[in-house]
Amino acid sequence: AIPIQAKEVKSTCCYCGVGCGVLIQTEQGRITGVRGDPDHPANFGRLCTKGSTLHLSTRPEARLLYPELRRNRTDVRQRASWDESLDYVAERFAAIIREHGPDAVAFYISGQLLTEDYYVFNKLAKGLIGTNNVDTNSRLCMSSAVSGYKATLGADAPPACYEDIDHAACLFIAGSNTAYAHPILYRRIEDAKAKNPEMKIIVVDPRLTDTAQSADLHLAILPGTDVALFNGMLHVMLWEGLLDMAYINAHTEGFEALKNTVREYTPKMVADICGIKEADIITASKWFGAGPTLSMYCQGLNQSTSGTDKNAALINLHLATGQIGKPGAGPFSLTGQPNAMGGREVGGMANLLSGHRDLANPEHRAEVAKLWGIESVPEQPGKTAVEIFKAIGDGSIKAVWIACTNPAQSMPDLSSVLAALDKAELVVLQEAFQGTETTSYADVILPASSWGEKEGTVTNSERRITHLNPAVTPPVEARHDWEIATDFALRLGRLLDTTKDAAKLFPYTRPEHIFNEHRETTRGRDLDITGISYGLLDESGPQLWPFPEGSDTGVKRLYTDGIFQKENGKAQFVNTIYKSTAEKTDARHPLHLTTGRLRDQWHGMSRTGTVAQLFNHAEEPIISMNLGDMKRRSIEAGSLVKVSNKRGSLILRAQPSDEMMPAQTFIPMHWGSQFMNCLGSNALMPSAFDKTSKQPELKHAAIKIEKV
Ligand code: SF4
Repeated sequence: AIPIQAKEVKSTCCYCGVGCGVLIQTEQGRITGVRGDPDHPANFGRLCTKGSTLHLSTRPEARLLYPELRRNRTDVRQRASWDESLDYVAERFAAIIREHGPDAVAFYISGQLLTEDYYVFNKLAKGLIGTNNVDTNSRLCMSSAVSGYKATLGADAPPACYEDIDHAACLFIAGSNTAYAHPILYRRIEDAKAKNPEMKIIVVDPRLTDTAQSADLHLAILPGTDVALFNGMLHVMLWEGLLDMAYINAHTEGFEALKNTVREYTPKMVADICGIKEADIITASKWFGAGPTLSMYCQGLNQSTSGTDKNAALINLHLATGQIGKPGAGPFSLTGQPNAMGGREVGGMANLLSGHRDLANPEHRAEVAKLWGIESVPEQPGKTAVEIFKAIGDGSIKAVWIACTNPAQSMPDLSSVLAALDKAELVVLQEAFQGTETTSYADVILPASSWGEKEGTVTNSERRITHLNPAVTPPVEARHDWEIATDFALRLGRLLDTTKDAAKLFPYTRPEHIFNEHRETTRGRDLDITGISYGLLDESGPQLWPFPEGSDTGVKRLYTDGIFQKENGKAQFVNTIYKSTAEKTDARHPLHLTTGRLRDQWHGMSRTGTVAQLFNHAEEPIISMNLGDMKRRSIEAGSLVKVSNKRGSLILRAQPSDEMMPAQTFIPMHWGSQFMNCLGSNALMPSAFDKTSKQPELKHAAIKIEKV
């Protein structure tokens, strides 16, 4: 027989926002291996344990392969054809919209989707149906970073790039266990430190994480006290003459009000609030102020009821020291998911519109309506993630379409979310993997394609767009996400009482058609990518935005000219005031619980949970505790404990950990009821959210622990 040549296809890793390039190896239509793409500027060939085992996560046995349907809640779902399933969903959506209006339906989608998928869902909701009820799990991930950037710099655009790590004299890592959550970026940090041992690394984290262990200075602040720390650092910088007054005067507004506020934030007061030493606050301020300083931050800042202020308070430090738009300097949010950035670019959230436009802005609504060829885009704000599930619970949203995410594990206050899903009239689940917690609530299952099977684009943390090529075809009857949404839109369009022509709105037969339409919506906007095409990405490799038509290359660093995306071109200091976490510890719930990622697992484990090797690092979820807290409760290492608060309880093994300060505990976020006999950590988390970003406080709850 003639040997069949193995093939390699360029794509990206589908886990985190580092956006590593991969080469997918195939033989006879099957994925057989994966290696890092040596030409991809995000990783230059490196992959972490998750990325390097991606090929092991493609077993068809783990996948949803056929549509399934039940017409009554009491029935068991049965295999159905695509036509029957999509017709049924279209009829139910149309009937609900006719009877209760367009806001009685909602779409809850995902930062795992490709930009093209996102674009179609967003247009389906806002353009065809006429509801802004389309939100995404990015709300749980990056929305505070978005609102922090917009409040200070005027646009949702990370100003720095990965290369800045090599130019920084100080790396200020806040609320991010980069070593676990963004491993390949962390390798780059290690390389930079090895090349320049003088570089200072400051880590702000309540835990002594792997990242914190390698820092020159670890600020183990109490959970949620970041704003006090950043204001305190500004206080010290003022006192020590570390501010760039010329920059402040030329390029910013609002400094005087903030200056008055931070006068109160003396090192003594901040040390008391944060539970750290005064001397460390002063050292951190001096290192940051000397610069160039690159701040890297993630969920510790974002998943908070003060998320927007935490982001803004950190950006305030960059503006006050003029450390932005220069090599090695700037605020740099690390994106949790692989394509949370792309989703924001197409406006795939309840408060956004295509091309970084704002729903609340009438001109932006008119521009998008014109681009889409419709009369108007609805003005009524859409419901965000937590609000969607609350509205399902109170009956105002009757039908929800969930794509590529698992809210029955990932939302806070899980018991309320599960009760809401139980109450919904119709739950549609578009998903690639079997057995996720949300599957049990679905009336209709639509099997979707997944990593290695899809074509489209993603944008990573540094604004870099990569074109993903399909290596194999989707298994059995699974279909592409954009294709399912388009097919549904055409069917729904025929049933709705509307003059809109769904066939004109959704003329796509290939992802490239969608990309080209999306690209046009960015013309003249801050993220203008009119110079990018699939062809260019294939020929020249992944590109940074903005990349307007006529350019030879994308832009590495934003705001180099000190002109910001505000109307008058000036950045805005936000007068940030410290507020404590939504929930405080008390006599009944005396311990702080924080949650986060492990090195080798991803989200709710629907993919990583299928790869045996990825359990070598941690076999089961444990609660990490301070040894003194365990001794006081006579809890032995490895014994089972009940972790509880008013929202729920979990039974887990407790282990002492040097990482934990007194009264602090930690549970990894990954395990849910699919893998253990109770709900996951988010059952304990409050649904309280930041009033601007609407991002819930998934990082902190007050708990008690009892021996079982
Ligand atoms: Fe994938 Fe992130 Fe690991 Fe890169 S760092 S291989 S994108 S999980």
